[in-house]
Amino acid sequence: MSLQVIFLGTAGSIPTTKRSLPAIAIKRKGELIFFDCGEGVQRQMVKAGLGFNRKMKVFVTHMHGDHMLGLPGLIQTMSLLDRTKKLEIYGPAGLEDFIEAIEKTVQFTLTFPLEISEIENEGFVCEEKEYEVYAMWMNHSAPALAYSLVEKPRPGRFYPEKAKALGIPKGELWSKLQHGTTVKLSKGRIVKPEEVVGLLRKGRKIVYTGDGKFSESLVAFAEDADLLIHDCTFDDELEERAKEDGHSTPSQAVKTAKKAKVKRLILTHISARYKTSELLLEQARKSGFSNVDVAEDFMQLDLPLPQG
Ligand SMILES: [Zn+2]
Ligand SMILES: [Zn+2]
Repeated sequence: MSLQVIFLGTAGSIPTTKRSLPAIAIKRKGELIFFDCGEGVQRQMVKAGLGFNRKMKVFVTHMHGDHMLGLPGLIQTMSLLDRTKKLEIYGPAGLEDFIEAIEKTVQFTLTFPLEISEIENEGFVCEEKEYEVYAMWMNHSAPALAYSLVEKPRPGRFYPEKAKALGIPKGELWSKLQHGTTVKLSKGRIVKPEEVVGLLRKGRKIVYTGDGKFSESLVAFAEDADLLIHDCTFDDELEERAKEDGHSTPSQAVKTAKKAKVKRLILTHISARYKTSELLLEQARKSGFSNVDVAEDFMQLDLPLPQG
């Protein structure tokens, strides 16, 4: 089952000619899951061909403008296009007041249900049949959350030859067994799933830090992620500045990636001072992690299911 990560905005704080403000779209089975919603997000969505009437959730990391000022425009554009599906928005305290202010003051007619959830405590945020979302507090200059999207384990591999050998007719019984249900054959023989199905298979895990500094709790939160999307506002030479502002550098992002044993690292929230990604990428690779890239607007990653 395919999963794509599309970087709609990769700038930090202010937009540049090449980078829009933070917004990351995860396209999964027809659903859009957004991390942050920077200004101009709806134009980036048009360019990326994402559509405005899909099932969709937005997870806002914090109430700094670069991460959430895209919400009014997004909601207004969706209404003008007669969106009908519910939009769920999650984020820290202040989110509800902000959305309420838009609804009260901006002249438009909301055409779809808006469900706003403020997150007070880290840990479990929400779930769907096939995945869960968790949050943790980052070390930043405002209350800021990191998020992880964790797919639930998939049923184990089904072995048709074993099922045939046991005389189980192909069809409904095969499907039941594959989904973990014990079945009874016409001759009375009971077959348990583990007789024809392998062990549960891991799903994918994607972690997005939003803005923030290194912490051991982030390492634990990002453990074994297939993809870690990390704040990289400043280069290593500006480590002191990063510390003051509650941001990270390439080598700090790599430190987390290595300690957490993540498979792939993408650096984002790039300061406008960097005209190209070269320096940041060079510093990240020098820190000893090869599977790392600097995000660019409209970069798209296909994240395959883990083997096994
Ligand atoms: Zn920011
Ligand atoms: Zn911030």
